Amino acid sequence: MKIYGNKLIKETMLNMSQKDRMAHSFLICGEKGLGKKTIADWLAALLVCESAEKPCFACRSCHLASEHTHPDIIYAEHSGKLGGFSVDTVREICSDAYIKPNNGERKIYIFTEADKITVQAQNSLLKLIEEPPDHAYFIFTVTDRNVILETIRSRVITLSAAPVSREDTLAALAENGVSDSEANDAVSVFGGNIGKCLDYVKSDAMKSAVDLTKKVTDCIINRDEYGILKNLTDASADKDMFRTVIGMLDSIIRDALALRYDPDSMTGCYERGARELSSGTTLNACEKMHDALGKAYSLIDKNVNIKLIASVLCGEITAFRQL
Ligand SMILES: [Zn+2]
Repeated sequence: MKIYGNKLIKETMLNMSQKDRMAHSFLICGEKGLGKKTIADWLAALLVCESAEKPCFACRSCHLASEHTHPDIIYAEHSGKLGGFSVDTVREICSDAYIKPNNGERKIYIFTEADKITVQAQNSLLKLIEEPPDHAYFIFTVTDRNVILETIRSRVITLSAAPVSREDTLAALAENGVSDSEANDAVSVFGGNIGKCLDYVKSDAMKSAVDLTKKVTDCIINRDEYGILKNLTDASADKDMFRTVIGMLDSIIRDALALRYDPDSMTGCYERGARELSSGTTLNACEKMHDALGKAYSLIDKNVNIKLIASVLCGEITAFRQL
């Protein structure tokens, strides 16, 4: 198990461990694909490792941690369509946390992809996080830290996963058996986001989605209403494809917005497109497009005809682009 890049996170965790001043709760945040779950797994191994140099990835505990079979590393089970955590799951954890660990001295509860955790679930966990038993540790991973209540956020160590260097991304892709040329292609689309690069390399659907997203972006830049409609309609033939394209298009619009404040900010798949949009479109138009994309995205799962969503969205984007 290896964390690429993210030196600050690693140093923060190692420092706490070496000084024997480990915090009990962590919030690992960052966009999809940046390795939040790997960081959580690595932190869990650090917490249970039996060697002096932690995490060693050689001892029995580290081995069980890497295999996800350590009895004291508990992954909270997701439930329901939204993938939150059920009241029962949270209740179980709340009582289990007071029971001593099976193996060593620590018990770790990991809530991955906790973006859909309800306020009720967070409130149930609050007391535990405020006054955890000595052996209990909690790790949450989220894309948006704001979903976590301030009362909890103020009691956890927040660590932000960041994109890694080009060198590290290429190394990670090579380790996953990706050829040099494919790796270079993926990095040109998704930069230092290893997870997204891997998705892109492995999936033809993802490649088509990126292609369509770039085409729509170009049409927005060129004020080509027919092109926007045609490409969005092409994407709407498949619900998953449409969802991916809308999500990626929104990332490009967000990049175009963020670029006004930070020239290095980039999370989407089309750097040139984001830069052209940023310089050639008003702030107001970008914000309105972002809202329209968010609205379209939320309608996808509400049984609204996808082609209709595509055509309404096209009309809105075209109107905003005139602003
Ligand atoms: Zn170990």
